[in-house]
Amino acid sequence: MKDLFGREISYLRLSVTERCNLRCRYCMPEDGVCKKRHEEMLTQEEMLAAVRAAASLGVTKLRLTGGEPLAWPNIVSLCAKAAAVEGIGEVCLTTNGTLLPKLARPLRAAGVSRLNISLDTLDAEKYRAITRCGELSEAVAGIRAGLDAGFEKIKLNAVLIGGFNDDEIPALAELTRRYPLDVRFIELMPMVDREVFGPEAFLPYTAVTEALPELEPVAPDGGVAKLYRLPGALGNVGLISPVSAHFCAACNRLRITADGKIKPCLHSPEEVSIKGCTEEEMREKLRQAILAKPKWHGELNYAEPSRANRAMNRIGG
Ligand code: SAM
Ligand code: SF4
Repeated sequence: MKDLFGREISYLRLSVTERCNLRCRYCMPEDGVCKKRHEEMLTQEEMLAAVRAAASLGVTKLRLTGGEPLAWPNIVSLCAKAAAVEGIGEVCLTTNGTLLPKLARPLRAAGVSRLNISLDTLDAEKYRAITRCGELSEAVAGIRAGLDAGFEKIKLNAVLIGGFNDDEIPALAELTRRYPLDVRFIELMPMVDREVFGPEAFLPYTAVTEALPELEPVAPDGGVAKLYRLPGALGNVGLISPVSAHFCAACNRLRITADGKIKPCLHSPEEVSIKGCTEEEMREKLRQAILAKPKWHGELNYAEPSRANRAMNRIGG
């Protein structure tokens, strides 16, 4: 289905949980999430009804996210059932990777086609600092498990943070020469808790092209990343610039949060609740949300942060 600006909406990002086994500084508060009552969150059946409703409106790509989707107990069964929904051509996951050693093969068998894995640094101390508790070795083991399970075109997502990992741009990009992976640098988005970082942490994507003058442009693949490649590399370097060069004109996505709110736009406070709705009611609400998609997310910078009213772990990224 098209929105009011002619954009075909074909991609749903469904967050299955707000909880996470890490506490990334740009994403969630140090003390975690206030534990919501179980009844406030979508059930697996409601998630599947939402996926069917979205597919009936033309959604073909589903991404499961969180919080940490692999920390949610029903993830493998949800993936298998979602992959079987008529019209859904691709089920993808965004994960911090730490639980992949156990889950990569079951997820692949359940029909998951793509993995995006978050990795902001290659230094164990810095990994512990940015995630407030994580072990780099567990994330690396997860990436290996994903490759060993046969996932192709795994994308590693690094949030670009001035004064934290800008000195690692070459080392992170270098992974694309050694492994069949894409590495994507994502501009840090100023969310409700942006004061965790100072303004100097917010770097534009051009920090990457300046650090790596040897990058060669690659033809776009229909996604939101500007694509480049290091000479002789096996994978691409992608640059995602929601802040310095927004891509709202090409936005094809809807989001549903774990507590059952459709978000027509990541950075808007507008939400439409589907908790407790029938599949037919969800379909109508999804249609309304598509028609309510704004033309763009509005100014987004340190002085004018996201109007989303939620930290990222409660949206899904
Ligand atoms: N736990 C999973 C993970 O870390 O990949 C999935 C959920 S996480 C919210 C989804 C993505 O959002 C991650 O790649 C994370 O780096 C990104 N993210 C979170 N907060 C962000 C922010 N303030 N700016 C840019 N990206 C952010
Ligand atoms: Fe957890 Fe992902 Fe947020 Fe990090 S970015 S705290 S791994 S949900």
